[in-house]
Amino acid sequence: MSAPQQIIEVKELVKKYGDFTAVDGISFGVREGEIFGLLGPNGAGKSTTLEIIETLREKTSGEVWVGGFSLDEHPEQIKKMIGVQLQSSGYYPGLNLTELIELFAGLYNRKVKPMEYLEMVNLGDKAKVRYKALSGGQQQRFSIATTLINQPRIIFLDEPTTGLDPQARRNLWELIRKVRGQGATIVITTHYMDEAEYLCDRVAIVDSGRIIALNSPDALIDELVAGGFERPRAVKKANLEDVFIQLTGREWRGD
Ligand code: ADP
Repeated sequence: MSAPQQIIEVKELVKKYGDFTAVDGISFGVREGEIFGLLGPNGAGKSTTLEIIETLREKTSGEVWVGGFSLDEHPEQIKKMIGVQLQSSGYYPGLNLTELIELFAGLYNRKVKPMEYLEMVNLGDKAKVRYKALSGGQQQRFSIATTLINQPRIIFLDEPTTGLDPQARRNLWELIRKVRGQGATIVITTHYMDEAEYLCDRVAIVDSGRIIALNSPDALIDELVAGGFERPRAVKKANLEDVFIQLTGREWRGD
C-alpha cells in the first residue's frame, strides 16, 4: 500500500467469533486530519473494527496499517500514536479529575498540567470533583480529555454522544471539531445521522460486517437524490430539536 496521505489503511479485514462473521472483508482508508465516521445499526461490526485497529482485539484475517505501521508487525508503534476513549468503568471512581489526569500521564510517561486538559474540555471548575460525581456529558468530555494526554495523531471515539441531551451533544461536537482543529485525525462511530452529517468529512456505512457505502455525507445525499429519491412530505424549516434548543438555550450546563 503506498498512499501516504492515508493515515489508516484497512484491507479485507475479517473477524469471526466462532462460526459467526462479525466483520466480513472490510476495506477503507482514513485521510490524515479528517473526521471519519463509521455508521451502521447495532451489531454491524463497527466497534469490532475499531477495536482491531486500536490493537485491542485480534483480527481473523486482513491487513491494517496505522501511520504507516503494520498492525501485525508494529502494534507498539501504533499504540503510541492513538488515543482511545475508555468505557466509564475504566476510571477509578474515588479519584478526582486532576488525580485521574496525573494517573494517565504517568501511564504514558508524560509530564502534563492537568488544568490545561480540564480547561480544554470546559471542566476547569471540576478539577477536584470525583469522576463518578460528573453528569453523563461531563464524563464524556473528561474521557475525551484523557485521550489527548499522549498527544495522539489519531483519536478513536466509539459512540461518544450516546445518551446525552441535545446541549451536551452539541458541546461535544464543538469539542471534537476543536480537537481536529489542533491537527488530530478522528475516527468516530455513531448511529446519529445528524451528528455524522455535521461532523464527518466522510462516512462509511457498515451493515452486517460489510461497507455498503463510503463517501462524504453531501455526496451520499446527492447520489440518493439523483436516483430519484424524494422525501414523502414537505420538510419544515425547523424540527423539534431546533425548538428545544431555541427554548432551553445553548449555554453550558451540568451536562
Ligand atoms: P457494532 O459496534 O456495530 O454495534 P459490534 O462490533 O459490537 O457491532 O458487534 C458485531 C457483531 O459481533 C454483533 O453481532 C455482536 O453480537 C458480535 N460480537 C461482538 N463481540 C463478540 C464476542 N466477543 N463474541 C461473540 N460475538 C461478538
